[in-house]
Amino acid sequence: MSLKSTSPHFIPLSFLCTRLPIRYRMGEAEMSIARELFALQEVDLEIESNEQAVREMTARLGESEALLQARSELAAVKEHLEELGRRQRDLEGEIADTGAKLARTEDEMYSGRTTNPKELTGLQQEAGILKAKRSGLEDRAVEVIEESETTAAQAAALTGRLDKLTAEWQAEQEQLGNDIGECKMRLAGLTAKRASLAAAIEPAALGAYHELQQRRGTAVARVEQGICRGCRISLSSAQMQRVRSGALIECTTCGRILFLP
Ligand SMILES: [Zn+2]
Repeated sequence: MSLKSTSPHFIPLSFLCTRLPIRYRMGEAEMSIARELFALQEVDLEIESNEQAVREMTARLGESEALLQARSELAAVKEHLEELGRRQRDLEGEIADTGAKLARTEDEMYSGRTTNPKELTGLQQEAGILKAKRSGLEDRAVEVIEESETTAAQAAALTGRLDKLTAEWQAEQEQLGNDIGECKMRLAGLTAKRASLAAAIEPAALGAYHELQQRRGTAVARVEQGICRGCRISLSSAQMQRVRSGALIECTTCGRILFLP
């Protein structure tokens, strides 16, 4: 597989293999280039997973859907409760007015001032109508009071639920804040570690690594039991021999740099 590229820094691995020493000293440890690149890749993967975690956790910061919904449900129930309170007060006012009118009518009836039988019958009829009206209003008031009680119980239950959700949400937000902070600290350490690893790697090899990383996601593939773990295809015995010798070679199937742990 050819490693053609548009990158100006890109150097084919076959060329690198002829130019770079198989092993060279890095501090006290002697490492092959493939091993160094693999170590770099491990750090890169760890950086990527930490960055992904920070993104996911950051997206969970802020108010949750459940919390917003519980709050709006409670607001609607409270509004209904206030409306019921207004209706109750209006009915009580009407009951009082009707009662006052009835009292005046009965007072007139029994005062002895009205003696005309036709007028007395009229007053009696009026008192009957007012009594029926007051009774109807009282029935409605009882219904409103009963609905108020049910609604108040509903509001109390929702308030309890909202308090619980709010407490859970606050704890979660705090935990998220801590976890994000930890992840960022880990990332700072990893970035420094990456920089020192990268600084020790031949620039040409680093260029090839980045090129492969962009195209394949991962640049270095571990060789396990004669199989490239990048593409899960068996290597030829000639390839295995070269990998064992520590040479920097690419998988003929997926093009990744092969690393034999
Ligand atoms: Zn492969």
